[in-house]
Amino acid sequence: MLKIENVHVYYGRIHALKGISLTVEPGEIVTLIGANGAGKTTLLRAISGLVPVREGTITFEGRPLTRLKAEEIVRLGISHVPEGRRIFANMTVRENLALGAYLRRDPKEVAESLERVFALFPRLKERLQQKAGTLSGGEQQMLAIARALMARPRLLLLDEPSLGLAPLLVRQIFATLKEINEQGTTLLLVEQNAHMALSVAHRGYVLETGRIVLADTAERLRASEEVRAAYLGG
Ligand code: ATP
Repeated sequence: MLKIENVHVYYGRIHALKGISLTVEPGEIVTLIGANGAGKTTLLRAISGLVPVREGTITFEGRPLTRLKAEEIVRLGISHVPEGRRIFANMTVRENLALGAYLRRDPKEVAESLERVFALFPRLKERLQQKAGTLSGGEQQMLAIARALMARPRLLLLDEPSLGLAPLLVRQIFATLKEINEQGTTLLLVEQNAHMALSVAHRGYVLETGRIVLADTAERLRASEEVRAAYLGG
């Protein structure tokens, strides 16, 4: 579904991605783990067309993405839930959700997506008229995911969905991500919380300073001494 080959990204003279190659197959949850600054966020931004790719290729369902604008990439079926959520704080929950669907034309289908989102996040339905900035951190994360789903993506990119949330909420968010995947959406998930990420993912990649150093099934990564020592607290 997604194929990344030898991708290099620079920020000025900083070489942030140094030849990344990976694949995501339809129906999978794939996770990217790694320390701060490893390049996880940059890789998601490269897929979404938010940073230029200097060298290498990214294809989605056979189409090259590296020359497309971010909006065209959304149109092809990829949505991105950025780190730090970036919801529109001064707009209501309903308005945020409507913005997620702004590229769609069929009101009946948009209404169906809204129902799907309410089934996944009943809390949002109760708070439709509330200003998004007044939601709790967990609710804002739910809204960020819900807004991305309103574009009806086939591939959902998630950047640190557990960041700053209490353990109970983290478990809730991950259970919902699993449900979203079981309903047919493919997920590429960036996480510092390697334990949670590897518990829901099918496969994972470990990044270190712009390179992939390990790639395996989530089960084998969880069992690996190297991963246990560096990312799972021994
Ligand atoms: P974190 O978990 O801390 O977000 P990450 O693995 O997502 O880390 P990136 O944010 O992708 O890492 O950063 C990769 C490298 O690129 C880092 O060395 C970072 O300092 C650098 N970098 C990221 N964004 C920029 C930018 N806008 N300008 C310059 N350097 C940047």
